[in-house]
Amino acid sequence: MKQTAENKRTRSYIGLGSNLGNRLGNIRFALAAMGQMPGSSVLRMSAVYETEPFGNADQPKFLNAAVELETSLEPAVLLKSLQRIEHHMGRVRQVKWEPRVIDLDILYFGNLVIDTPDLKVPHPELSLRGFVLVPLCDLIPDFEDPASRQKVKVLLKKILRTKGDVKKMETANF
Ligand code: ADP
Ligand code: MG
Repeated sequence: MKQTAENKRTRSYIGLGSNLGNRLGNIRFALAAMGQMPGSSVLRMSAVYETEPFGNADQPKFLNAAVELETSLEPAVLLKSLQRIEHHMGRVRQVKWEPRVIDLDILYFGNLVIDTPDLKVPHPELSLRGFVLVPLCDLIPDFEDPASRQKVKVLLKKILRTKGDVKKMETANF
């Protein structure tokens, strides 16, 4: 059957972070909510990692994970849907590096490079952040980052010295 624009599904990778309240519960809730977005299914999820807060150290540790999503949503609509989940879960303020119930970032959207005021993909700080690259490497170590043209595992190797701040949670079982 010929594929139409409506049923074209793209693999997208979403980074999840939480450092307020029941952090694992928040990650699980967001995972379920992403599976309910129209035209979208969660295919795989990384392990969950406990990580040191970035930027502002005077706040609780984060739990971080990444998911592989298959979606027929356009990138801007996907961002809106993720922001709706963030708001629904009680994330009200939008100050960078503040503690948050949930943070949902689009890391990759297929091989697309997007540079608009509201949405930048690949996520601009991805290659600097162990708490993003470690979970992403669970899912797609050999994926070539469409911006840097380097594999995810190579990007991770470059920042290995900060990897000590990212600890796998043995108890988290999905
Ligand atoms: P951060 O995730 O960097 O800690 P926020 O979650 O507060 O910061 O995001 C602030 C803004 O980042 C959002 O309003 C959104 O428009 C923008 N943004 C740009 N690119 C992306 C992306 N790839 N994923 C999620 N948000 C993005
Ligand atoms: Mg965000």
